[in-house]
Amino acid sequence: MARWTETHSAATLRLRPASWRGHRAGQHVDIRLTAEDGYQAERSYSIASPPNGGGADGTIDVTIERLEDGEVSAYLVDEMQPGDLLEVRGPIGGWFVWDVADGGPLLLLAGGSGIVPVMAMVRHRHQQGSDVRVRMVVSVRTEEDLFYAAELTELAAAGDGFELVVTVTRGEPAAGHRAGRLDAALLDEMRWNGGRAYACGPNGFVETATGLLVAAGMDPAEIRAERFGPSGI
Ligand SMILES: Cc1cc2nc3c(=O)[nH]c(=O)nc-3n(C[C@H](O)[C@H](O)[C@H](O)COP(=O)(O)OP(=O)(O)OC[C@H]3O[C@@H](n4cnc5c(N)ncnc54)[C@H](O)[C@@H]3O)c2cc1C
Repeated sequence: MARWTETHSAATLRLRPASWRGHRAGQHVDIRLTAEDGYQAERSYSIASPPNGGGADGTIDVTIERLEDGEVSAYLVDEMQPGDLLEVRGPIGGWFVWDVADGGPLLLLAGGSGIVPVMAMVRHRHQQGSDVRVRMVVSVRTEEDLFYAAELTELAAAGDGFELVVTVTRGEPAAGHRAGRLDAALLDEMRWNGGRAYACGPNGFVETATGLLVAAGMDPAEIRAERFGPSGI
C-alpha cells in the first residue's frame, strides 16, 4: 500500500490486491478491519482509479475522508502506512457505473467525498480519449475540502467536453467557483436534454440532487444515485 494526502482530512490509499479481476468506473470495495481482540468493522469505499489501474498494474486507489469520531475512516486516514495489509472485498456494484461505451452526455453531481466514484468515471473518459460531454458539479463545504483540485482544474482546462462547476457551501469560494448549495437554478444551467445523471454523496445531498432532477423533468430511469451516509454538505 502507498498513501498520499488529498486534503486536510482525506488521504488516498493505493492498494495492491492479492488478486483482482478488474473493475468498472463507479464500483466500490468493502474494507474490513480486525482488532487484536477479534472485533471487526467493515465499510465501503469507492474506487477512485479508472478501470485499468491507478498507477502500476493491478493497483486500485481509494480516497477516504476522516469523519469526526469515525471508527474506520479515522484509522485508514491516520494510521495506515505503506506496507500494511488490509482485508479488501470487491469490486462491488453494477448500477452506479459508467463505461465509455455507454455514451453520454453525462451530468455528475457530487457532494464531498461523493466525488470519488464519479472521478473514476472522469478519469476513465480521459484515459480512453473519449469525447463524451460531461458536466460535473461538486459541492464542498470549503475550498480546502475539494479532492483532486489540481487534476480537476487541468481536466476542465483541456476544452475536450469536460466542464466543471465547484460550489462552496461555507466560506469563500476561490476565483471561478460559486457560493451556495446545489439548487434548481444551478441544475438548470448544467443539465442536458437527455443523457444520464449520477448523484453521489451524503444522503441529504443525494435526496436534493435527485429531487431537483426529477422536478426538472428528467427520466428517473436515467438517474443513478449512491448514498454515502447521514450528514448534509
Ligand atoms: C457504496 C459506498 C461507497 C462509499 N465510498 C466512500 C469513499 O469513497 N470515501 C469515503 O470517505 N467514504 C465513502 N463511503 C462512506 C464510508 O463507507 C463510511 O460510511 C465512512 O467512511 C464513515 O465510516 P466510519 O467508520 O469512519 O464512521 P462511523 O464510525 O460509521 O460513523 C461515525 C459518525 O459519522 C457519521 N457518518 C457515517 N458516515 C458518514 C458520512 N458518509 N458522512 C457524514 N457522516 C457520516 C455517523 O452517523 C457517526 O455519527 C461510502 C459508502 C458507501 C455506502
